[in-house]
Amino acid sequence: MIVTRFAPSPNGPLHLGHAYAAIVAHDLARARDGRFLLRIEDIDGERSRPEFTAQFLEDLTWLGLAWDGAPIAQSDRIVAHAAAGDRLKAMGLLYPCCCTRAEIAATARATGPDGPVYPGTCRGRAVDPEGAAWRLDVAAAMAMTGPLEWSDETAGPQIARADLFGDVVLLRKDLPGSYHLAVTLDDAADAVTLVTRGADLFASTHVHRLLQALLGLPVPVWHHHPLLVDPEGRKLAKRRGSPSLAERRLAGEDGRTLAQALRDHCFPAGISLSQRLDCAP
Ligand code: GLU
Repeated sequence: MIVTRFAPSPNGPLHLGHAYAAIVAHDLARARDGRFLLRIEDIDGERSRPEFTAQFLEDLTWLGLAWDGAPIAQSDRIVAHAAAGDRLKAMGLLYPCCCTRAEIAATARATGPDGPVYPGTCRGRAVDPEGAAWRLDVAAAMAMTGPLEWSDETAGPQIARADLFGDVVLLRKDLPGSYHLAVTLDDAADAVTLVTRGADLFASTHVHRLLQALLGLPVPVWHHHPLLVDPEGRKLAKRRGSPSLAERRLAGEDGRTLAQALRDHCFPAGISLSQRLDCAP
């Protein structure tokens, strides 16, 4: 039986792109007699707001999507995130880093999927861990695991290229887990077998696959779906004027009709689906 999930972060309202993502994950589970989980990724205490979570539940119900079990709160898992961070530290794979974004931008020699690639400035340096972020020594980690593969349902087999990102932050200054660590641990904790999410996170999977190997976690299959984009090809975002689901709902629109239109790829004017191949590494 497959298990999929929709894992929004409550740092802003959901919009059409989120609705599409939720529908894809929901419909894949339902088509294969599987389970569809809802996980609220609320570990970013500064940006997460409970009122968005409450809206999300109403929005999904309005779209006609029912999740299995109770919604899962990522913030309930921070002890497990910190424990995994300690394990990686004990393996000698993490090092503290105090570089600012501006310093990284000024010293980067390459651009990766998330922007300037951290050039490893603090690797091998004596950095005061107090108030530092902890980065994964990706080369050491890849040497430990050897070559890794993963598979996307539509893009096919992939060779893990965690090195594309440089030494990613796994423990943030303010949090026991970064996105990469938390999402990898939580998908394993939730027994997710088909990680369903947008193509914008395709490259992140290289890092997640490496973490799974290091931490002895099960390896799911991935399903990265195309994104809804504006006429310039940019991912939809509230700040670019795309109305939120809550605004549509409160304006009296019928959510199930909207969900069906998204399934049928009948998008509002100016919105289209990105090409799948855009997400290839
Ligand atoms: N919480 C992430 C987001 O809202 C998604 C995580 C994932 O699907 O892997 O962008």
